[in-house]
Amino acid sequence: MIFFGPPGAGKGTQAKIISELLNIAHLSTGDILRKKLLEQDKLANELKVIMSSGNLVSDDILNSIVSLRLNKEASKGFILDGYPRTLKQSEFLNKFLLETSNSINYIFDIQINFETLKSRILKRSSEESRDDDKIEVIETRYNEYISSTQKVSEFYKEKYPDIFHEIDGSLQIQEITQKIRQILKFS
Ligand code: AMP
Repeated sequence: MIFFGPPGAGKGTQAKIISELLNIAHLSTGDILRKKLLEQDKLANELKVIMSSGNLVSDDILNSIVSLRLNKEASKGFILDGYPRTLKQSEFLNKFLLETSNSINYIFDIQINFETLKSRILKRSSEESRDDDKIEVIETRYNEYISSTQKVSEFYKEKYPDIFHEIDGSLQIQEITQKIRQILKFS
């Protein structure tokens, strides 16, 4: 399962809820990278600069992190949250899925406008104190989404129309979960 959506759309929240419901792994590349930051080595320092500015981390770093984790989870199924974010990452993922005889079963694209996500992210910044939840970084992250990741979700929408579901991200958390559960036929 893949979750798409701009930062603040609520994809992390929904991916967590659904992973617990289905008892499958929740792979949030943002969470994995934030954990890496705590290691305080050279890579962590490089990641900190990129992430706190709101830009995307390189495809090579992401693909190697993800392949390590996917190899562990491939047999049970998994939810991808925040990956793939570029066309290169989606090519890497497709190759991995082919090689391991896995397939994508559901794609959820949570849609939300910039004003709503700005206020949501500012609220989250007071709760989680993330370096990249600042007003000046939000715009960069949103623009990264529009310029890189939206192309990826469009690619999947065209390639897998039957399993691609657009969800209104302005709804309440429980309402979104309910919509997803209906699609999964898990109610
Ligand atoms: P997120 O928690 O998904 O909003 O991710 C936080 C930050 O981690 C992003 O702004 C990027 O700097 C980095 N990041 C997470 N996932 C990816 C990815 N798939 N490709 C590149 N950078 C990523």
